[in-house]
Amino acid sequence: MNLPKIVIFSTPLVSTWVFDETHRVLFDAGDGVTAMLDSRIHKIRLAAITHTHRDHCAGLMQLLNLRGGAGDFTAVYPAGSGSGRALAGFLTTFDSRSTGKVRWNPMDAGQDVAIEPPRHVLRTFATSHYPPTAPTRTMSVGYQIVRSVDKVKPELRGLPQRELDALRMELGKEQITETLEDVLLSITGDTVPLEPATFAGSRVLLHECTFLDLHDTDGHGEGVHPHSTLPDVLRCAAEAGVGHLGLYHISRRYDEGLLMARIRELCAEMAIPFPVSAAVPGRQYEDLLRQTVWPGLPCPAP
Ligand SMILES: [Zn+2]
Ligand SMILES: [Zn+2]
Repeated sequence: MNLPKIVIFSTPLVSTWVFDETHRVLFDAGDGVTAMLDSRIHKIRLAAITHTHRDHCAGLMQLLNLRGGAGDFTAVYPAGSGSGRALAGFLTTFDSRSTGKVRWNPMDAGQDVAIEPPRHVLRTFATSHYPPTAPTRTMSVGYQIVRSVDKVKPELRGLPQRELDALRMELGKEQITETLEDVLLSITGDTVPLEPATFAGSRVLLHECTFLDLHDTDGHGEGVHPHSTLPDVLRCAAEAGVGHLGLYHISRRYDEGLLMARIRELCAEMAIPFPVSAAVPGRQYEDLLRQTVWPGLPCPAP
């Protein structure tokens, strides 16, 4: 299966937006998203906000003014986010003919919303980017694009096609197939590292990677909204068995040459088997996953 086309711009504290052009979903809508995507905003069917830090949602108003006004547009945000609710309420009343036409859908972790094409859903998972609240509120989420596929049951897979066809005629399709889920994409938004099981088998994982090393996080004033570091992200993606890793939300403090060298060095050290791409801050990528920093390791001979 082909990789989705990921158009991305991500500079922490300034602006982050990630457009999955293949599935027509925009993840986060930082400042400048409309200016930079221009007429391509009309391809977007759904905007999925991971959390309401301004660098992830400040571009919503202009995006929805131009795109949401055309109708058939959904915006989803974490259900426990008061800022998300306030923004939805404000934009609904601000201009009923444009931003007011948008369907707003607050989502808790584990919820699905149907997207195009058929049998595809957008699913939320819990992330950890805010201090805990009592009672617990969903302040931030990550998203997955999940496809349901019918597969012949394992015990029947060796049969010749002729016999399978006969069984299908006799018993019906439901009796010889099972429905499996194929996770095409996972994207974290801002978070500390999560359980690798969250991303198990995901074909593509886009993971925030604000810092290269743990000591970089000290004294940066971001302790209240903690992030992930490169070694944690690589470990998590390796345990989850993802197909391709895209790093984004990388702090602009790093020199690009050193950043790339460090990623390669650590990937080699950890024998990372899948390709790794990285979105350098301040730069827009047209197809992030086509540009790899680390090619992955060839499969060992059987
Ligand atoms: Zn951020
Ligand atoms: Zn944040």
